[in-house]
Amino acid sequence: MSNHSTNILRTPIEYLKGVGPSKATLLRSEIGIDTFGDLLHYYPFRHNDRRKIIPIAAIQHDGDFVQLIGTVTYHEVIGVGRKKRLTAQFKDKTGIIELVWFQGITFFEKIVAQGGQFMVYGKATRFSGYWCINHPEMEKLEKISLEQLPAFEPVYSSTEKLRFNFLNGKNFTKLVFQLFQQIQENDVEEIIPEEILKRNQFTGRFKALKAIHFPQDYQELEQAQLRLKFEELFIHQIGICKLKLNHHRTTGFVFSKVGDHFNHFYKNLLPFELTEDQKQVLREIRLDTQTGHQMNRLLQGDVGSGKTIVALLCMLLTLDNGFQACLMAPTEILAQQHYESIVSLLASTTIRVGYLSGKTKAKDKKQILSLLATGNLDIVIGTHALIEDTVVFKNLGLSIIDEQHRFGVAQRAKLWTKNTTPPHVLVMTATPIPRTLAMTAYGDLDVSVIKKLPPGRKPISTIHRNEMHRARVMDFIKSEIQQGRQAYIVYPLIEESEKLTFENLQAGYLQVRQFFPDHSYNVAMVHGKQDQHEREQNMTSFVNGHAHILVATTVIEVGVNVPNASVMLIESAERFGLSQLHQLRGRVGRGAEKSYCILLTSNKLSAQGKERMHIMETESSGFVISEKDLLMRGPGDIDGTKQSGTLDLKLADIVHDIGIMELARNECISLLHADAELNLPQHQTLKQHLLKRKDKEIWSKIS
Ligand code: ADP
Ligand code: MG
Repeated sequence: MSNHSTNILRTPIEYLKGVGPSKATLLRSEIGIDTFGDLLHYYPFRHNDRRKIIPIAAIQHDGDFVQLIGTVTYHEVIGVGRKKRLTAQFKDKTGIIELVWFQGITFFEKIVAQGGQFMVYGKATRFSGYWCINHPEMEKLEKISLEQLPAFEPVYSSTEKLRFNFLNGKNFTKLVFQLFQQIQENDVEEIIPEEILKRNQFTGRFKALKAIHFPQDYQELEQAQLRLKFEELFIHQIGICKLKLNHHRTTGFVFSKVGDHFNHFYKNLLPFELTEDQKQVLREIRLDTQTGHQMNRLLQGDVGSGKTIVALLCMLLTLDNGFQACLMAPTEILAQQHYESIVSLLASTTIRVGYLSGKTKAKDKKQILSLLATGNLDIVIGTHALIEDTVVFKNLGLSIIDEQHRFGVAQRAKLWTKNTTPPHVLVMTATPIPRTLAMTAYGDLDVSVIKKLPPGRKPISTIHRNEMHRARVMDFIKSEIQQGRQAYIVYPLIEESEKLTFENLQAGYLQVRQFFPDHSYNVAMVHGKQDQHEREQNMTSFVNGHAHILVATTVIEVGVNVPNASVMLIESAERFGLSQLHQLRGRVGRGAEKSYCILLTSNKLSAQGKERMHIMETESSGFVISEKDLLMRGPGDIDGTKQSGTLDLKLADIVHDIGIMELARNECISLLHADAELNLPQHQTLKQHLLKRKDKEIWSKIS
């Protein structure tokens, strides 16, 4: 590694020809480009294939990006205020298309007024029978000779402020072009070990970076993308794989025996026979806790697969070995349910169980904290409150996190620091997570899976109906109630506003009341605005069978168990994510009766909406549903990815690049297998690169 190489890429951006101090200030504040190196990694989001020009008549699909050549035959500025816009008729030999600008009107008006031939690029949309392009890129044809154009022209994103200061997409092209005049191949360090490059026939780093901006052809672009995506995922995975390796080396408590607490419960108090999967998970955990290293295990199991009892048995194992255990849940309601069910299962024992949440009164909290610190409480169940610094255990041996995607890696880690020797950690996810997420958000954990549900569950019929069928749906619910069953009716949370959610629910309640009048039906309602007491009372009236119908928001999503309920009606089902629908559906089908999940949507549903309802009707596996959910929603929307936070990906996307991710992970594993501390000379550039990054503590801890 030459000094020269680190230096030139660290050169402040103002020193690039064509930038200067004022543009540099903007580049920094607007998009964080500080140095030559940052610009090098400012990738184009697309390339225009400048050779591909189509006639207007050949535009096929709404949403296609098209490049056209023609003339502006007419233009005018219409509307006022926010609706003010410039429209232009653009024509070639085959047809007419409308171009529209809402911003930069004066600027573009001057351009179109010049007349002559233009090249236009943009997304074609169909608008009341006409094709149109909003905010097209537009260029006079004389200025560019077609032959001169590179086949692939990079397109960079810019901001309004940058555009007004002569830093539009096209200017970026020039700057990056200039950058490549000033740097050379050996200025860019190769960070992927040679062996891995060779084995996978990956392009070298400099060549790939050059080609991601200015590819000669499509193939070169693809190879550059592959190499750079691999690099991103490799850098990401190597941290996670190292973390996993570190876990396996972290000293942990040895749970040497299975003792009285476990055995007594297992023989006398267990309300049912464990399923094979549940037994297998217990065996895996038993093995983990005997190795002398810290357990870090993820327990995946579909809704209703019976994770709670596994958690309880693990806690009993912990007590048998002289340690305390804690169970943390993401919401107050879920934590309380865990607490109540565990207290009742352990009622005949001497085990001391406590509860702690943000709502626990100061006086009670003080007492719980002192009991925990002195070892006079065996198990504590609660919410996030458990990770506060004030919570000190005498000897915490096991932390269980029932997380439903809601805790991040960092929060998980906080529970480990509660002792000098970290407790064993078991993370339970109620929603099965897609493979990619398993590799990112949970990639440092060992995985156990409960695949089969406990016996005796009947499959749930899922049916999609729209508004027009509301009366019939309600009649159906009546007939179920007549047969002694109960029903849930769930309304979506309206994310923008608690008030709207509440109004939505109130309106729903009144509507339900019209179908199920007071004199013959009991309808209970639970929602987030009720105080705990009221909510509990209403919930209880449904649990003990008094209320026929429970009207609720998604608060019932987690944990609730009423085996007699046979109908789950979900209102505005199109507003829910697939995984959430699946969670809700899991509230029924818990008893002996045949159960139904009815997805009620508006009459008008988008194609995607229909597809989603269809998936719910035909799929019962939470695993399959979560994969499809991720595909349809994209990774940005998935809780786990947002929270994993460490995902610093520019090119790769964890939905579509799963193959590359798997490859990167495997390469990381074998690399670390051979050189866990990255001490070999051929791994030094990689190690230096990793040490510069934010996850450097993983690497600096060692050696
Ligand atoms: P989840 O995995 O969604 O947390 P729970 O632990 O709440 O599922 O279990 C769902 C229901 O299944 C509970 O009523 C529980 O008592 C019951 N259950 C769990 N394991 C078994 C089993 N092996 N046999 C019968 N019922 C079981
Ligand atoms: Mg659960």
